[in-house]
Amino acid sequence: MSSSTWISIDFDDHRHLPKYSGHPTRSNQQHITSANKELSEDFQKGMKGLENWLNSNDYPVTFFIIADLFENTTFSNWLQRLIKQFPQRITIGNHGLNHRSWSAWPKDVEGFDNALVESNRILQQYCGTSIRPWFRAPAGYIAPWMAPVLAKNGFKVDSSVNPSWLVKRKTGKVNSWSKVEQSMKDNEIVEIRWKTKWSLPITGPALHIPILKTIANGSWKSSPMIDSLDNSLKINGQITALYWHLLDHSRKQSTWSPPLP
Ligand SMILES: [Zn+2]
Repeated sequence: MSSSTWISIDFDDHRHLPKYSGHPTRSNQQHITSANKELSEDFQKGMKGLENWLNSNDYPVTFFIIADLFENTTFSNWLQRLIKQFPQRITIGNHGLNHRSWSAWPKDVEGFDNALVESNRILQQYCGTSIRPWFRAPAGYIAPWMAPVLAKNGFKVDSSVNPSWLVKRKTGKVNSWSKVEQSMKDNEIVEIRWKTKWSLPITGPALHIPILKTIANGSWKSSPMIDSLDNSLKINGQITALYWHLLDHSRKQSTWSPPLP
């Protein structure tokens, strides 16, 4: 069985983070408006940094985009230009309508369903053929009840499971990562777990947390060959999923780059 690495980037601005919105206890309520069309300064620096990074290599990459970003025309014009410039490299997945941490709230099939319908509609409108039926739960909050709703909305891949004991709570009360994976399987959705090492998170925010950061650096650098998820799924091989955030590209005056091989 051949193995490959799939890389992806989550498009969260500061206002989307659980600290500010979408979470029942972690969020500072005053930031909960999703009608905020402004992009933060860091996000704009991140856009610039990401574009520089894209011009520096040939890796295929998936963008997990939050649909409410398209309320901003600077963003939608910029993204459409990138898609046109790199049509073979960029694929687009769904990272929610806003950034609601679904499994941190009581089960809400109707609310989740409505958000998927609306976000799919918006992504279709702006991203056309670059879209794939792939989902990543906002802030990694995923529960078993979400799988049938994803299947109903045509999703074939979920990449929300961060199989580490450190973040087990995110699956909701009495759940576990294995129950989420079983429910995905029952609904014919391929689950692609985030890469961990010694059962510790090493993707996303872990890239900037002391100790985890050191482990992540070493582990990322020894990853198998980077390939598109389209190819990797076709080959039916083992997939190492590595992801980071657009905001990471705002670091070091927009010169930050992920520790890839
Ligand atoms: Zn996110």
